[in-house]
Amino acid sequence: MSPSSPVAADLHIHSYFSDGTFSPRQVVAQAAACHLNPIALTDHDTVAGIPDALQASAEFQVEVIPGVELSVHEFDQDTHILGYFIHWEDPAFQKVLLPLQTQRTERLEEMLRRLHHLGITVTVPEVLRIAGKGTVGRLHVARALLAQRVVNRLQEAFDRFLAWGRPAYVERGVFTARQAIAAIRNAQGIAVLAHPGQNGLAHLPELIQVGLQGIEVFHPSHTVEDVFILTRLATERNLLITGGSDCHGLAKGEVRLGQARLPLQFVERLRQAVPGPGSPGT
Ligand SMILES: [Zn+2]
Ligand SMILES: [Zn+2]
Repeated sequence: MSPSSPVAADLHIHSYFSDGTFSPRQVVAQAAACHLNPIALTDHDTVAGIPDALQASAEFQVEVIPGVELSVHEFDQDTHILGYFIHWEDPAFQKVLLPLQTQRTERLEEMLRRLHHLGITVTVPEVLRIAGKGTVGRLHVARALLAQRVVNRLQEAFDRFLAWGRPAYVERGVFTARQAIAAIRNAQGIAVLAHPGQNGLAHLPELIQVGLQGIEVFHPSHTVEDVFILTRLATERNLLITGGSDCHGLAKGEVRLGQARLPLQFVERLRQAVPGPGSPGT
């Protein structure tokens, strides 16, 4: 990254409080080095990393927008909804996240049971050791399979065992799209559909109807054509545009910070859409 690179935003980053490998402080430090400001910490189903990220924000002079990425299972598919500028300390919001944590543990046990039936033994402590402080998920199981050399690449773990329709896939998501979007909006946040290039747009009208306000246009999995189509769609539907690297530290084999750079004008539009007085989240 050259020192003259223009500053841009990255509104989609995971820490080790979900399935990334960096601490929130490392995330902020690396963002500063990549000329990313502001950033959003968007851990899966948890806001536990936000205090540390906010603390590092002052030290590294990088604004941290409190965020979250909620998993939804509806319409026979997994969908991710990002929440921005959420009032993360709101007890009602934290309470909403609790069942998701419990369910993740039950789901882990079921995934491991199914792998066992296939002759592959991965233990709960093994996966929890990899997950560390994180909310445990499929990526941690994939990393355990990689560590055991059952697979040669992380993606292979998903393709053979963990993806939808594969033998160790276990459905999850106590949330419907309506519930996830309501949880975010009740916490004064903005609800955005994550990486639609990956998960599809078939149900966008229903999501908008239940309060979706934006779509993630810039994401490393999106092609130039995706970005073009999604930008046009956002304009037609009057949706906010966001973007981010979806960086998981080293958990996906490479550090993605800097791979999606959101122009700052889109952050300003997002900020303007935040309900109520003041500008939260520095
Ligand atoms: Zn996602
Ligand atoms: Zn993500």
